[in-house]
Amino acid sequence: MKICMLARNPSLYSHQRLGEAARERGHTIEVVNTLRCYMNITSHRPELHYNGEKLEGYDAVIPRIGASITYYGLAVLRQFEMMGVWPLNESVAIGRSRDKLRSMQLLAREGIGLPVTAFAHDPKQTNEVLKMVGEAPVIIKLIEGTQGIGVVLGETTKSAKSVIEAFRGANVNILVQEFIREANGTDIRALVIGGKVIAAMQRKGADDDFRSNLHRGGRATAIKITPEERSTAIRAAKIMGLNVCGVDMLRSNHGPVVMEVNSSPGLQGIEQATGNDVAGAIVDFLVRSARPNDTRTKGR
Ligand code: ADP
Ligand code: GLU
Repeated sequence: MKICMLARNPSLYSHQRLGEAARERGHTIEVVNTLRCYMNITSHRPELHYNGEKLEGYDAVIPRIGASITYYGLAVLRQFEMMGVWPLNESVAIGRSRDKLRSMQLLAREGIGLPVTAFAHDPKQTNEVLKMVGEAPVIIKLIEGTQGIGVVLGETTKSAKSVIEAFRGANVNILVQEFIREANGTDIRALVIGGKVIAAMQRKGADDDFRSNLHRGGRATAIKITPEERSTAIRAAKIMGLNVCGVDMLRSNHGPVVMEVNSSPGLQGIEQATGNDVAGAIVDFLVRSARPNDTRTKGR
């Protein structure tokens, strides 16, 4: 099989591992820098070009599109889909998952547990929004944040209000969320591939941090998740329409609550914590599933 991996940095652990896993299984894999692809989007026969050549002959594409280049990256992936190349995750599903409000609305509608979350555009509604979420402490989150940057704990209503004002002043979108204290600075990441949880880890923040992101100094260990956590992760992946994703959950007093569904999960933390060959499982799933002209949406 000839596989294209859309990625900017081929030397990242996850990209290296996916490359190794594909080659070990006798497949060809080429890393293509997403931002260097170009195309005539008005052509009736969709094409993609790279370094002066046409990108063709691929059976599948692995999108590893960073959050900061979502808009352009998804245009490139859509072009592959229109050319009939099978995507590991579809552009429409990735776009859905990158929009925090849209994803939470979809998950909530399907009955997935979420931390109580409220959102308003107009700063005059701050008091009402805080009331909806309940007593301080509350979490205030930048909607476009990643890696735990822009996630703040408002310990009192007064400090929550000043954090909200500061974010407003910077003209960024935020949401206000119930603080799940009983999670104790830990969260759970379940890696879902083709409707199955194939690895799960617990992440614990640095001692003085309520955020458990590995990028913020958190540590990961393998964990056995409950049947309810497993089914929540699988359902969340299905609702988002993602074949491969990381589902981040908190253990709350009222069961698992989903924080976010990540369409390009990092592999280093979870492979090292669990010893599982996640990259191999992804490639095996891809090889089993890839069919030409068989994307559900064709980018629509
Ligand atoms: P990012 O997408 O930037 O990683 P998250 O929403 O995942 O941001 O939040 C970062 C970390 O903060 C989480 O891993 C979790 O440990 C902690 N956290 C986030 N939301 C809550 C919450 N509602 N209650 C308790 N802890 C939270
Ligand atoms: N319109 C919803 C969305 O934001 C649901 C449609 C769909 O899941 O394709 O994605």
